[in-house]
Amino acid sequence: MTLAERIAEVQDRIAAAAREAGRDPAEITLVAATKVQSSETIRAAIGAGVTVCGENRVQEMTAHLDDNAYEGAALHFIGHLQTNKVKFVVGRVDLIESVGSEHLLDAVEERAARLGLVQDILLEVNVGGEASKSGVAPADLSGLAQKAARLPHVRLRGLMAIPPVAEIPGANRKFFTRMYQFFVDIRSQMNDNGTTIDCLSMGMSGDFEDAVREGATLVRVGTALFGPRPPMGAAVKDNR
Ligand SMILES: *Cc1c(COP(=O)(O)O)cnc(C)c1O
Repeated sequence: MTLAERIAEVQDRIAAAAREAGRDPAEITLVAATKVQSSETIRAAIGAGVTVCGENRVQEMTAHLDDNAYEGAALHFIGHLQTNKVKFVVGRVDLIESVGSEHLLDAVEERAARLGLVQDILLEVNVGGEASKSGVAPADLSGLAQKAARLPHVRLRGLMAIPPVAEIPGANRKFFTRMYQFFVDIRSQMNDNGTTIDCLSMGMSGDFEDAVREGATLVRVGTALFGPRPPMGAAVKDNR
C-alpha cells in the first residue's frame, strides 16, 4: 500500500468506528504522529490529506519547521516537554497536547505572556497511574484545569492521554471510558467560565478505533500510516 492508501484506510476506519458508535465522523481528526519521518514524507502525508501533524521531539520539529515541512497542516506538540524547551514550542504549534504538570503549565504561561500570545493546550492525564509516565494524576486534574482556565495566556481546550501499552486488544478501552468521563466532567466545570473544552486526544495505531468509540476527538496515529519506526523511534517511545 502507498502512504496515500494507508492514510485513506485509517480515515475510513475512524469513520466506520464513529458511525458504529452513533457519532459524526467529522467530529474526529486524525493527527499524524510524524516522529522520525523526513520532511519529504511529512509533505507527502499532507498532500494525501493529513490535516494535523503531531511531533514529540523538539529538535526534529524545529528542523521540519525550518524546512516548512508542515505547510498546509496544523501542528500539535504531543511529546514529553521539558520546561527548558518550552521556548521552542510555545507560539510555534497550534496545540500543545502534553501539559502534564503545574510546573510545565506555569512555564508555558510565562513564555506565552512574554510573546504576547495565547497558547492552546491540553492537559495530559496519567490515566493508567503509571509511575513511569508523565501526566497529571486524575485526583489533581480538576485543580489543574481550574488553574489553567484562570491563566491569561493559555487556553485550555481539553485532555490527552497515553494509556499503558495494551497486551491484549481491547485492554485499553476502560482507560478511554475513564478519560471520556474526565472530559465530560471538566467540560461541565469549565462551561461556567466560558472556556470551550472540545478536544479529547486518545488512541494510537493499535487502539484508535476503541478510542473513537469511547469519544476521542483527536487520534494520534504513526505506525499505521508510516509503517514501523526504526529502533531510534522505539527508544523515544520508551523514554516516556
Ligand atoms: C508516536 C506517538 C503516537 C503514535 O504511535 P503509533 O503507535 O505509532 O501509532 C501517539 N502519541 C504519541 C504521544 C506518540 O509519541
